[in-house]
Amino acid sequence: MGTKIYLHHGDLPAGMRFPDGVAIDTETLGLKPHRDRLCLVQLSAGDGTAHLVQFDGRSYEAPHLKRLLADPDTIKIFHYARFDVAVLSRYLGVVTKPLFCTKIASKLVRTYTDRHGLKDLVAELLGVELSKHQQSSDWAAASLSDAQKSYAASDVLHLHALRSRLDAMLKREGRTALAAACFDFLPNRAAMDLAGFEDMDIFSH
Ligand code: MN
Repeated sequence: MGTKIYLHHGDLPAGMRFPDGVAIDTETLGLKPHRDRLCLVQLSAGDGTAHLVQFDGRSYEAPHLKRLLADPDTIKIFHYARFDVAVLSRYLGVVTKPLFCTKIASKLVRTYTDRHGLKDLVAELLGVELSKHQQSSDWAAASLSDAQKSYAASDVLHLHALRSRLDAMLKREGRTALAAACFDFLPNRAAMDLAGFEDMDIFSH
């Protein structure tokens, strides 16, 4: 399967459709949303194609992307949505929903392991070896290298396939409704992170 990668500046083109949901990942300057700005949003329809939307840090207008993120009829598929949803809220001012998180789904069904990283999931469930080599790099660079672009794309290209494998496992274990409730809560969890409750489990004793 030949991967196609398209780079866009500041927004998605108009009129893009994602009938089977859209896989999304973000790259930032670090792990603290208030400090580390959003640099890149990667999207895929699950067809081997990735669209990279690059932000220069001056404008986060992006009306087409914002409409997609908030579209109630398009499911957004993430791996560790908690971080991406917080970043998208902080920089684009959008509540991203509805969504599916492959990491949460994995934790609810793959109770035989504590390895829930994207690399682990893709290897076990899809038999694909992902490189994490460009994970720490300067995503704010004006011109992204080919290695950065292909790394960024690889983070969204497998999420549709993972969702369908994990959906089957959730069904098998009778945890589909529990997963859905967790996904629905995620924008609130992200809002709590942004409000300073990131290190606190308010459900603990
Ligand atoms: Mn990534």
